[in-house]
Amino acid sequence: RLYNEMIVLKGNIRVFCRCRPLSLEEISKGYSSVIEIDPSQDTELQIICSDYSKKQFKFDHIFGPKDDQEAVFAETLPIVKSVLDGYNVCIFAYGQTGTGKTFTMEGTTENRGVNYRALEELFRSSKERSSLSRYQFSVSMLEVYNEKIRDLLADNADQHAKKLETKQVADGTQDVPGLVEAQICSIDEVWEKLKTGARNRSVGSTNANELSSRSHCLVRVTIKSENLVSGQRSRSHMWLVDLAGSERAAKIEVEGERLKESQFINKSLSALGDVISALASKNPHIPYRNSKLTHLLQSSLGGDCKTLMFAQISPSSADLGETLCSLNFASRVR
Ligand code: ADP
Ligand code: MG
Repeated sequence: RLYNEMIVLKGNIRVFCRCRPLSLEEISKGYSSVIEIDPSQDTELQIICSDYSKKQFKFDHIFGPKDDQEAVFAETLPIVKSVLDGYNVCIFAYGQTGTGKTFTMEGTTENRGVNYRALEELFRSSKERSSLSRYQFSVSMLEVYNEKIRDLLADNADQHAKKLETKQVADGTQDVPGLVEAQICSIDEVWEKLKTGARNRSVGSTNANELSSRSHCLVRVTIKSENLVSGQRSRSHMWLVDLAGSERAAKIEVEGERLKESQFINKSLSALGDVISALASKNPHIPYRNSKLTHLLQSSLGGDCKTLMFAQISPSSADLGETLCSLNFASRVR
């Protein structure tokens, strides 16, 4: 029995790798791509190291520069659908700043990402099942910066006054008392809510991009369902997480505020890596309590929860070192 459970556990963690296109700026500076993806298969890539040797990495799926948001979502769809069957789900984007984490999760108005498409799918599938079950969706959005939690859907005035903490609730799961939970009745409301939250990320910062690369942004979708035949009710969560940039701090920045930020980011990203690799390697002790991030996600990581991580990478020769770090991190959790 135990053996079967382990197989299930391992099967519940997926790692996808997504490599963005070279930017015009990178091309104009003479940088070239160091990533080779064999078009005949989509689970292996090679990276050309500085000594021209090649290293190979395997993933559950690899998306290259030509794969669009639709192609990415097509592979993400099964995990999103499992939410309606009552599974808790976590989807992360991990990687260096500028590799497309926000592009994959949030996307742009023309190229919407996983967050919007996942909610669109929930509305579509729940309509299909409306003769069997009734569903109710709500959305919360929060930011973790320097191990502090901030509500991205609260009014600006309350945001600073409110101190949010995780708390264990009656059924043993973690909750964040006081976090705004916005009811979502149709897909039209979703994009506005997600945009509002994204805008609030930059409040109090002189440079929005700067701060967003140094904090984790979490969207929590709560799905409440009632089976119309048996009357059974259930609640599950889908977390959609745009992580802080994984890059190591430049030497010049390693003092004061920046040093503190970098230490918090390192600590929380390695805590996340430790949790996922402990789950993947069937370790009985899962170290959830080492960071706010893993503590928040505790009830949605492990057990029969489903986890998907996007390892986002840059193809550019200038980013080789960081790309190798990200590929190594992602292999460790797989
Ligand atoms: P991050 O959130 O990791 O810092 P962004 O999502 O902001 O990175 O992406 C950096 C830039 O690259 C943005 O201008 C984004 O639109 C662009 N970009 C990222 N991924 C892709 C992609 N797969 N295709 C086209 N453009 C992309
Ligand atoms: Mg970003």
